[in-house]
Amino acid sequence: MDFTTFIRAVDSMEGYHGTIGVMGGEPTLHPEFERFTRYLHAHLPKGVRKEKLSLTRPQKDFIESVLLENKINSEVYQYETGARETVAGAGLWSAMVPTYKKYYELIQDVFKMQAVNDHGNTMYHSPILISRKDLGIPDEQWLEIRDHCWAQDIWSASITPKGAFFCEIAGALDMLFDGPGGWPIEKGWWKRTPEQFGDQLRWCEYCGIAIETYTRDANDWIDDVSESMYKKLEEIGSPKLKKPGRINLVRMKDGIIDQESKVGVKEIRKELFYDSFASRFDGKKSVLFPERFDTVVVLEHNQKIGEIEKWIKEQGRQFKKIFFITDSEYIYRELQKLYIENQQIHVLKSHKIWGNSFAYAIRHCHDFQPIWYFSDLLYLKEEFYEDIRNSVINPGTLHYINLEKHSSDILETDSNSGCIAMYHKEAEALKEAGIDFISNAAGFDEILKIWNPEKIIKMSFEMIEDTSVMRIQNDKVYAVYGAGKTGYSALQQIRESNSKAIFFVDTDSKKWGKYIEGIPVAAPQELVTRRKEFSQVVIASTYFKEIKEKLESLGFTSDDYVIYE
Ligand code: SF4
Repeated sequence: MDFTTFIRAVDSMEGYHGTIGVMGGEPTLHPEFERFTRYLHAHLPKGVRKEKLSLTRPQKDFIESVLLENKINSEVYQYETGARETVAGAGLWSAMVPTYKKYYELIQDVFKMQAVNDHGNTMYHSPILISRKDLGIPDEQWLEIRDHCWAQDIWSASITPKGAFFCEIAGALDMLFDGPGGWPIEKGWWKRTPEQFGDQLRWCEYCGIAIETYTRDANDWIDDVSESMYKKLEEIGSPKLKKPGRINLVRMKDGIIDQESKVGVKEIRKELFYDSFASRFDGKKSVLFPERFDTVVVLEHNQKIGEIEKWIKEQGRQFKKIFFITDSEYIYRELQKLYIENQQIHVLKSHKIWGNSFAYAIRHCHDFQPIWYFSDLLYLKEEFYEDIRNSVINPGTLHYINLEKHSSDILETDSNSGCIAMYHKEAEALKEAGIDFISNAAGFDEILKIWNPEKIIKMSFEMIEDTSVMRIQNDKVYAVYGAGKTGYSALQQIRESNSKAIFFVDTDSKKWGKYIEGIPVAAPQELVTRRKEFSQVVIASTYFKEIKEKLESLGFTSDDYVIYE
């Protein structure tokens, strides 16, 4: 899609209250992804546009954090057709390829909802390119099936470069088979009702999503195609037909799909999609984790060579590249002699301006990897490096500690002078400041000033966010907010986790004084009076946002509650 069409697409959504999703293919691979994203952000109305920063801290469990963020941003909204839970604002669908990492800071700043899927786990859906005609489904039965298409119920209308479509899959089929295109991309196109879908329903005839055939793991990378659809692929010269094993021709036998033509189908499942949203992501293999660290270390004027060698011996293995900055001619010469052949160690002589050497070092550090800065030969604990290696890090964040002001739990040996920082050269703050500014900086204090204070995080073990603690845990005592169906299933999970719920609360006064499986239901105020009796509140309701606000008004913080999904 070109930028002009994208502008029209965004503008056409004026007045829409729901998720405006950017999807592909892989949207982050688009050469103008950044421009598109900034336009979308700037043109979303206030209240829908993302204002609050998120995922600025290193994440131990990235997917859990994304899910939590989606939940936090969701709301129950009253549409003309009834109430629905939604995230109103920008959404991103991404397979988390390396370009996701490239735009990580921008993505977290702009998108209120993310559907991330690294294809590391199984994901099922029924084959798309199966025509009901090939299966012999008569008209009357077909209309019933089509009009109850599950994808139409839960999924989305879409805009492609060829226009607007009532269904994303219909839009994709129009692209694939060079169809006539969609409706003009103009304001309000999305208000059409099913009676107005008209000609676009032709694409349902080519689509097997609504038909209960079988489900295939998307990670097989095989398209199951019925006979007439196979011919259509031949007509358009689909390159997939030439790729061995990518297309599986589905034939009929005695009025049903020939079992033998379900080639490689490991499991026939009725449930669609995935076991849970989290299972769409196998974070362990993700490109998001740091692969290597580089560092810039400032040496004191009278630093002893032996001290430098000791530091290299003990801390050096953490880094792929080490840049020492020294203003001493003697140290510079000695280190040059020792490490001239060494690919890891680089010695920079700072002349009058500190920024010159710092900018040089930044330019020569690895792209998209954390760069550490030590204002002195400081020793960090091995476990801290390890924790950082196992975290997903926002490249826009400056992780920083001023040791003159704060004591630190990450140091091997105490120090009350100097500072430590960790950042990425791709940080918006550095890009905006520009290399000239950095080259002229008198010291790290000036670098500090260019950062948005909300993106500066105090460096410590605690800065690493572990959202797995936001789940119901073993051997805890909880109060449950929400005495409905969700509250009931939360209670079952609490019990399965060997934990205990001591009471429910609910905003609905009609429920007060009643019992759920022997556990009393009270007014929300009870949470305050009995605060000492439980460790956390389990929020078990779709009205998550309102409950969160209520809890905050009662003096609870985010550490005091967990969310039941
Ligand atoms: S095109 Fe396919 S997915 Fe879309 S509504 Fe029709 S049958 Fe359902």
